[in-house]
Amino acid sequence: MIDTIIIHYTAMPCDTSLDRLCDKSAQVSAHYLIDEDGSLYQMVADNKRAWHAGVSYWQGRDNVNDNSIGIELVNLGHEYGYTDFPTEQIAVLCELLGRLTARYDVVASKIVGHSDIAPGRKIDPGEKFPWAHLARQGFGLYPQVSAADEMALICDVDRMIAAKKHLIAIGYGISDHEAKVFEMEKTLRAFQMHWRPKCCHGKLDHGTEKMLQAVAGEVVNLL
Ligand SMILES: [Zn+2]
Repeated sequence: MIDTIIIHYTAMPCDTSLDRLCDKSAQVSAHYLIDEDGSLYQMVADNKRAWHAGVSYWQGRDNVNDNSIGIELVNLGHEYGYTDFPTEQIAVLCELLGRLTARYDVVASKIVGHSDIAPGRKIDPGEKFPWAHLARQGFGLYPQVSAADEMALICDVDRMIAAKKHLIAIGYGISDHEAKVFEMEKTLRAFQMHWRPKCCHGKLDHGTEKMLQAVAGEVVNLL
């Protein structure tokens, strides 16, 4: 049952992406692809499983491919030339999200990025993706938080533990198998790429703490 939508970038141009996403031997696929000019392609039927998420976890479920729709946005990405997502591309994405969220039971906290479901392993769609704009159109969560720009770092252990609890409440998978500091850093960085794009250093600071509390509060309200 589809209840989650994952946003990606392609890290390659549109024609190469279409070739790769339609090549069985590449073992990667997505339901939709949107070019920079807003051209929309559907490659996999909504009710078929696509291979876009890989090893992943969100809100209590792993193997997110099983219950999600994957949307690829053409963007060369961090490695080959990361650019702002054009207005035309985001407008078509919003139309598509409108159709998908109406058709399936997708709550706002289950519209997330590849980096959210695979922190440390994936960084798309990245800090340039306009999550705040999407939320204003009615897709995803993006609470208004005052003083979200406060940069002073927090080293207090109790507040770090509270931050970890908030990350888990929002939906991030934090494994106890990994070294604790590394695990917190990569997950905080994933959170910041989505909810605090100005500052993705992976450390807990005052602004990140405030945003964590606000997002976790909204997620809990949706449950
Ligand atoms: Zn991806």
